[in-house]
Amino acid sequence: MADCIFCKIAKKEIPSDIVYEDKKTMTFLDINPMSLGHILVVPKKHYETFDELDQENLKELSLTLQKVAKAVKKIADGYTLLQNNIVEQGVPHVHFHIVPRKRSDSLHFHLPSQKFSQQETNKIKDRIKTLLK
Ligand SMILES: [Zn+2]
Repeated sequence: MADCIFCKIAKKEIPSDIVYEDKKTMTFLDINPMSLGHILVVPKKHYETFDELDQENLKELSLTLQKVAKAVKKIADGYTLLQNNIVEQGVPHVHFHIVPRKRSDSLHFHLPSQKFSQQETNKIKDRIKTLLK
């Protein structure tokens, strides 16, 4: 996609701090890091959201994610994987964040839980199950 910043990074049309690349994926440091070594992993081919990935790119992206996560685990106490689709997705090119974590770091992901009625829960469960058939 012509105006996509991650496509431009994947094609090296604009510079980035690349830490790994292969035929299908590009891995580089986030310019607005949540922690030191905050990494973005993207497919080189443009897909807007995770669900749009074809099987080959899904496989290659997954393999790169795990490869990079193994490296990050050696430089941190742990790591957080983040991935947004449409809502809160800053760049409309599918990407995973790998955020190196320290046990004592100040990052806190407050994702509130909500209460729903049993009727609402059953209804959404049945809808999702039907969509997965
Ligand atoms: Zn793109």
